[in-house]
Amino acid sequence: MKIYNSLTNQKEDFVSQKKNHLSMYVCGPTVYNYIHIGNARPVVFFDVVRRYFEYLGYQVNYVSNITDIDDKIILEAEKLKISETKLTTYFTEQFIKDTLSLGSLLPSKMPKATEYVIEMIFYINDLIEKSYAYQSGDSIYFRVNKIADYGKLSNQVLADLSVGARVDEDLKKESPHDFTLWKTTDLGLNFDSPWGRGRPGWHTECAVMNQAIFGEKIDIHGGGNDLIFPHHENEIAQSEAISNHSLAQVWMHVGRLDLANVKMSKSLGNIILVKDLLEEYEYQGFRMLILSHHYRQPINFSYELMNQFDSEWQRIKRTLKQALVEISINYYEVVEYNDLALDAFKVAMDDDFNCANAFTVIYDQIKQINKTQDLKEKARLYYTTVLMLNVLGIQTDLKRLTDEQIQDYHAWQTARREKRYQEADEIRIRLIEAGILL
Ligand SMILES: [Zn+2]
Repeated sequence: MKIYNSLTNQKEDFVSQKKNHLSMYVCGPTVYNYIHIGNARPVVFFDVVRRYFEYLGYQVNYVSNITDIDDKIILEAEKLKISETKLTTYFTEQFIKDTLSLGSLLPSKMPKATEYVIEMIFYINDLIEKSYAYQSGDSIYFRVNKIADYGKLSNQVLADLSVGARVDEDLKKESPHDFTLWKTTDLGLNFDSPWGRGRPGWHTECAVMNQAIFGEKIDIHGGGNDLIFPHHENEIAQSEAISNHSLAQVWMHVGRLDLANVKMSKSLGNIILVKDLLEEYEYQGFRMLILSHHYRQPINFSYELMNQFDSEWQRIKRTLKQALVEISINYYEVVEYNDLALDAFKVAMDDDFNCANAFTVIYDQIKQINKTQDLKEKARLYYTTVLMLNVLGIQTDLKRLTDEQIQDYHAWQTARREKRYQEADEIRIRLIEAGILL
């Protein structure tokens, strides 16, 4: 299997550190609002990464954090005049709801930053003792100059970063690139520490949760590509200081999903929330839209595109439904797979998760299902397609017909054949209501 590693800027042969085990950490949301469809992209894509490894027989430990300490949370709670805990609890629940509505499985673990504050304090203390961190004014900062290859993930060198970069010129810092590990403040949610009450910095939250949960270098660290700098760069810097490794062997980054070529942002008001989109569309069509674009490429979302993928999904569902009716009414029980198609599917997925090519295999199976008159072949194509769709997190939710429904189906056909049209119509309506006929 080949995966593009953002750390080396190339596709590499992937071998997990522990045979048949995969450890993966993906940066999760800051819970102060509902997630929009741009936020949904990594939630869908990394779910597919997890499902594909599980399909290959791996035991996957997939951790995705909840950031429940942040300036944005403090501001929003203040605006709504509720406690930060109440705000983050509510939006964590909404995030879980949205994740499930998108057809994604919940990660193996969803740690909250507030649950790891003690570990963060110990971690920062270690950094100070190793002279990678220092106290100045109200805060503890990371000494970026001590990391010789700082900037390797975002392909920048410190000298370039200084020129015209939007680095805040904080006079309390030794270097403008140094970032905050702990901020002493009594504003908002704050915790006791040797440096006074305050709260940890975001980059430290993820680095510490990684270390606390996995305790060693992980296989894959993922997130949106807007996190490469400074968030992931700073996670790597801390990990190198503490553990002498770059936190993960592979760094995977997902491209943006824009709306009419513009980045979605609350201030521009051009946001479509996941919950609103999924009131109008089935999640399967939206997943198809996301996965039909290579994960590293940007997506330009429009309702025209959404409608197109929704129709594709309806077409696939119709074909599979008809196939399952035929399989059921003929009492065909054998479950077999088309190995050639599964091989082609694997080739596509093994090539840096080329889901678009995986869909080509699926479309081809759908075409063949519509063409074949052979029941055995139709069943084989049906089960193969359903299996591949499942790996992509697209459930068909189709069930075999019950015995009663099969009898009804035969009664409908007999009534039609014998020209008892009124009776045939009555049964037909019943079959439509049961979702068997379209
Ligand atoms: Zn993170």
